[in-house]
Amino acid sequence: MRLIFLGPPGAGKGTQAQILQERYGVQQVSTGDILRANLQQRTELGTIAETFMRRGDLVPDEVAVRMVETELDRHPNGFIMDGFPRTIAQAESFDALLERKGWRLDAVVLFEAGREALIARLSGRWTNPRTGRIYNATTSPPKRAGIDDEDGGPLVQRDDDKPETAEKRLAVYEKQTAPLVDYYRRRGKLVAVDAMQPVDRVTEEIVAKIGAAAAA
Ligand code: ADP
Ligand code: AMP
Repeated sequence: MRLIFLGPPGAGKGTQAQILQERYGVQQVSTGDILRANLQQRTELGTIAETFMRRGDLVPDEVAVRMVETELDRHPNGFIMDGFPRTIAQAESFDALLERKGWRLDAVVLFEAGREALIARLSGRWTNPRTGRIYNATTSPPKRAGIDDEDGGPLVQRDDDKPETAEKRLAVYEKQTAPLVDYYRRRGKLVAVDAMQPVDRVTEEIVAKIGAAAAA
């Protein structure tokens, strides 16, 4: 299964990718997680990305595309792209990359959610930086505040989830990423889900709609 999860920050793409990777036997590829790991390890890529990420801007297209190109070799049987592509230029490069590999995209899932809910979700998001596991202080809290249920390690709040930067990221989404909705709709790949529902309902809707899309 080769999927793209598309939608604004906080819509629940990472949460659903983590749930569905087992079901589809493929892994989540989160460009944001890869960039954060590079930042943490102070690699050259991390150093380049840092200023953009701090401001809530996108990293340059060449950087994102090169990163995904390298990563894709590890996913010959499929993937769930979470956070990529984010611009028309990235989508075009990704199409070319898939074509070179002879791979076909199954579907692009669009997560639809209202702006206020997104800001609230982002301000309550806590993640495990080692595993990428996602919690929410209100809707899915860990058993002990700030501690991961699974590995017992500390959870962190992302610097770019604070309200000013979250607002900026939503604006960047509207301007640079939202045009991808039409891009994929025209190619007959788009399925939209109501991301305002509880997590398990969103999962059900994705599974139902992807089944239909893959069969079409
Ligand atoms: P994205 O990857 O799209 O930025 P996340 O999956 O990280 O979004 O989710 C953002 C926040 O919203 C997290 O704190 C997560 O626990 C919470 N969340 C995700 N899906 C839902 C949902 N359906 N209902 C309520 N909260 C959710
Ligand atoms: P995310 O974890 O998806 O919310 O991404 C966090 C940040 O990483 C974004 O605000 C961007 O600065 C950067 N980023 C992640 N994916 C991409 C991408 N495909 N293109 C450009 N920047 C990206």
